[in-house]
Amino acid sequence: MKTSELNFKTLPLSKELLDVIQELGYSQMTPIQAQSIPVLLEGKDLVGQSKTGSGKTAAFTIPILNRLKVGQRQIQALVLCPTRELCTQVAREIRRLGRKQIGLQVLIISGGQPIYPQLTALEKGVHIVVGTPGRVLDHLRRKSLELGQIQTLVLDEADRMLEMGFQEDMEQILEALPKSRQTVFFSATYPSTIDQMSRLYQKDPVRVTMKEDEAQPLHIRQVYYQAEPEEKLNALLWLIQQAQPESAIIFCNLKATVIELGRALSQMDISSGCLHGDLEQPERDRVMAKFRNRSTRVLVATDVAARGIDVENLDAVFNYDIPLQPEIYVHRIGRTGRAGNKGLAVSLTTARQKIKITEIEKYTKIQITEKSLPPLAQMDRDQFKARLHQEAPMATLFISGGRKDKVRPGDLLGALTGEAGGFAGTDIGKIEIHDLFSYVAISKPLATVAMQRLRDGRIKGRKFRVEMVR
Ligand code: ADP
Ligand code: MG
Repeated sequence: MKTSELNFKTLPLSKELLDVIQELGYSQMTPIQAQSIPVLLEGKDLVGQSKTGSGKTAAFTIPILNRLKVGQRQIQALVLCPTRELCTQVAREIRRLGRKQIGLQVLIISGGQPIYPQLTALEKGVHIVVGTPGRVLDHLRRKSLELGQIQTLVLDEADRMLEMGFQEDMEQILEALPKSRQTVFFSATYPSTIDQMSRLYQKDPVRVTMKEDEAQPLHIRQVYYQAEPEEKLNALLWLIQQAQPESAIIFCNLKATVIELGRALSQMDISSGCLHGDLEQPERDRVMAKFRNRSTRVLVATDVAARGIDVENLDAVFNYDIPLQPEIYVHRIGRTGRAGNKGLAVSLTTARQKIKITEIEKYTKIQITEKSLPPLAQMDRDQFKARLHQEAPMATLFISGGRKDKVRPGDLLGALTGEAGGFAGTDIGKIEIHDLFSYVAISKPLATVAMQRLRDGRIKGRKFRVEMVR
C-alpha cells in the first residue's frame, strides 16, 4: 500500500477527529486501520484480524465517533471485551479520541464492580458502553440497558472471549440487539467459531486478515537459554542485569512460580509486581497502575492473569517457563516491540522442554537464537545485587477522590505544580483517575514530600485521603 493511502486525511472524518488524531501523533494508519476504517465508515459489517498492538481499538473507535451524535443521549455503540482491564483500556482510547466531542459519555460496565453506580450512570444516559459479556447480559436482564438505538456492536478480542467461555453470553447479546445494527468482530487470531458466528450474525461481512508475514513480530529479537530448574533464578537475574529493562514482564506457567519468583526478586531489590489469578480486583488494579506508571519495573505474571493487560513500550518479555503452546508464546512476546520499537523476548528452557522451542519455531516460522549462560552456580547474590540497579524511577500516591468526585488530571497536576505544590511538571508521571480514587506517579525521591503537600492542601476545595501505594 502506498504511504499516501495510509494518511488519515484521506478519510471522510470530522475535523475534530482529524485534529485529535494528529495531536495524538498518529501520523499514519496502521495496516489493519487502513483496511478496516473505510469499510466501517460505510456502515458495513466486518471481521478484522491482526496481531496484538496493531491498532485495532482506534480502527473501530474512529468510525463510531465519527457517526456519534453527542446531542442524542442514547447508547449508540456497544463494545464487548473479555476482561475488565481491556474494557478500561478501550474506554480510555475512546475517551482520548473523543476528547473534542464535548459531553461524550463513555461507560464501563464490567463484572467485579458494584452495579449501583453503573445503574445510575445508565439512567442519566451515555453514548458508548464498553463492557464484559456477563455484566452486559446482567443489565439486559434487569432492563437497565436500553439497546434499541444501537448502531454499532463491536466484539473486541473475540477470540479471547470465546476462549474464556463467553460464547453463549455473546450470542444472547447479539440476539437482543436491533437487526439494523453494524456488527464488528476484532480478534488477534481467527478460530473457526468466529467464522461460524460471523455467518450467523453478520450481513455480508468484509473480512480483513493481515497476511502472516505482516502479522509476525519480526522486530522482536528472540533468544533462548537452556537452564535447569535449579539454575533458572540465577539465570533470570543475570539476564535482567544484561538487559537492564526499564519495563518488562516475566511470564511463568504457574501461579506458585509467580509468587515464589516475586519474593525472590524483592529480596534482590528488584522492584516488581505480581499478577496471578487469585488476586482480588483492587489488588490487580494497584499492581497494574504501579507497573504502567513506572513505580515498578518488572511484572511477574501467569498467562491468565496477564490476559487483557496492555502495557506500552515493554522493553522485554522473559519466559521464565517456556509456554506449553506456541500460540501462548506469540501472545506473550507480542507485548514487546510495539509501534515500531525494538523488542526483546528471552526464554528459558530446560533440556527436556527444548522440543517446545522447535514447535514454536515451526509455528512462527522464525528461528529463535540459542545463547549460552555464563557459569552462574557460584554467583554471589550480594555482589550481584549491588550491580543490578533495578530501582524504579517513580512512586505512586493514592488519592481518595476520583471521577465521581469530578477530580480531573489537571486538578491533581495543579495541586502538585501550583504555588502550594511547587513541583515541576517533569517530576510528575502518569495520572490515573478511577471512579472512586486516583493514582499519581511522582519521581521517587520527591514522593514523601509530595504526599505531605497533598495532605496539607486541597483538591477541588476538598480534603482527600492521600497515601503512598506500597
Ligand atoms: P490492538 O487492539 O490491535 O492490540 P491497540 O488498539 O491496543 O492494539 O493499539 C496499540 C497502540 O498503538 C496503542 O497505544 C494505540 O494508542 C497506538 N496506535 C493506534 N493507532 C495508531 C496509529 N495509527 N499510529 C500510532 N499509534 C497508534
Ligand atoms: Mg485490542
